[in-house]
Amino acid sequence: MIPKAEDIKKILYGYIACDSISSTEKEQKAENYFLDFFKDQPYFKAHPDHFGAEPIHDDPCGRSTVWAMVKGTGKDAVVCIHHHDVVTVEDFKSLKDLAFSPDELEEALAEISDSFSDEAREDYESGGWIFGRGGCDMKGGGSIQMALLSEYGRQIMEDPASFKGHVIILSVPDEENLSAGMLTGIKVLKRLKEKYDLNYRLMINSEPHQRKEKNTGIFSFGSIGKIMPYVYVRGCLAHAGKVFEGLNPAHVMAGIVRKTEVNMDFSDIIGNEAAPPPTWLYLRENKENYDVSMPLTINGCLSVLTLNSQPRDVLYKLKDVCIEAFDEVIEDMNRQYARFMEATHREPHKLPWKTHVVLFGDLIKEARRDYPDTFDQAYKEELIRLKASIRAGEESTIMANFKLVDFVYDYINDLSPRVVVGLMPPYYPNVYNGLNEQEEKVQGLYEYLRDFTEETFGQTYVSEAYYTGISDLSYSYMKNADQVEAILDHSMAFFGDIYHIPLKDIEAVSMPCVNVGPWGKDFHKLTERVYKEDMYERTPVILNETIRYMLND
Ligand SMILES: [Zn+2]
Repeated sequence: MIPKAEDIKKILYGYIACDSISSTEKEQKAENYFLDFFKDQPYFKAHPDHFGAEPIHDDPCGRSTVWAMVKGTGKDAVVCIHHHDVVTVEDFKSLKDLAFSPDELEEALAEISDSFSDEAREDYESGGWIFGRGGCDMKGGGSIQMALLSEYGRQIMEDPASFKGHVIILSVPDEENLSAGMLTGIKVLKRLKEKYDLNYRLMINSEPHQRKEKNTGIFSFGSIGKIMPYVYVRGCLAHAGKVFEGLNPAHVMAGIVRKTEVNMDFSDIIGNEAAPPPTWLYLRENKENYDVSMPLTINGCLSVLTLNSQPRDVLYKLKDVCIEAFDEVIEDMNRQYARFMEATHREPHKLPWKTHVVLFGDLIKEARRDYPDTFDQAYKEELIRLKASIRAGEESTIMANFKLVDFVYDYINDLSPRVVVGLMPPYYPNVYNGLNEQEEKVQGLYEYLRDFTEETFGQTYVSEAYYTGISDLSYSYMKNADQVEAILDHSMAFFGDIYHIPLKDIEAVSMPCVNVGPWGKDFHKLTERVYKEDMYERTPVILNETIRYMLND
């Protein structure tokens, strides 16, 4: 039942050879490879409706989520997921042509291995690692899943009654981008659940894990969440010679950035794991040319990783920080203004500025109130226009989002300074089995696997609550779809239109999750590599054991 090393290697090399770079049509190569692999196997010849492609709706790259399923007895099912897109090969420089051929690449790396870090060079010289773009992240884990499923199919063909439960693999595109593949995969899971009355027990991802010690592996029983709030500050324009007649949005934004960048108040802590604190990924004012006036607006996006905070918590916490920063700027300006007036022997008075912070949804309401006859229609048309320009690659989602806020401002009568706070796609929910109601079997999974790996390989595996690399497991579980939908509706302009998350469907197929994958290093770098011993010997056995544990009595 455990696939042979040479079979896994063959699958892996073929999978890597599909240069399925994320957000390109090349992802289709990996999809076809996956389907071709199962197509000729006796099990899938006998059950042609047990595998297929689910196209991503309206996808400019024409990509699909591909899937395959073997059916045994009973209702219980385990879902394995992996992504088949890979990041670009820019950092391979002169070796770009070899990035997808592990053996040729290994040979060529000899020339430049002197420039590697000590660790990468030692690994390279040991011969114990497979190099190549996507081998580690994550066609390695994907190949193990495929090899196992084909073994299961073979067993069921021989003796259908001998296999308890069902195993599904989803192979998804776009993981390195917006996870459109996984969100489409949810549809497949929902349909299969309804069609075959499946009881989903566990979702297994096989992303590589990173070790702190050579002989200690890691299982993750959850996945970190990510949310991207944005801040749009509108000031009041003035000439640089008349600073107190205006309010520079840079001043307010600086206060907001200063109060949030790597601020641990925004970092969730669960047990002894903490989310890395937030950082600003984007920050700019929108002047096209230099002149002597202040900028009118400044825009920024903040990436917040979460362990248990909900979008609502993060958004309102940020809103409070914006109010605080705004208050401080006004106070400071009044203080400086008093000094200025004193220095010029004039009578000081208070400046007119007032703190004003709203959520994007409130701004929409205001525009509707100010222009009840025209706003809604114009807004709808603007969304359609922006959607088309995002699709055509003329505009990034971020730029389009801020253009939309500018557009709404054309319908606002109150042009006094204010801060608008909202959410930008993507949204990755945090998930962790330990915070959810779990059946006994799932509760015992870690101990079972720990004992198993110790007995079988003399190797310890520790348990970690959150896979911190951001993964598609984020969409394995949801119990508050209504609440999440309400806040996304109110604060994320593109939600439901340009960016879609099937929240209710995720809730309908919700299941606990785990990451069981091979040891890997240097994801996304030239020295990306996956550990041979895990790939060919250990991880297939552990993955099989995980599946059997969940499906057998
Ligand atoms: Zn990955």
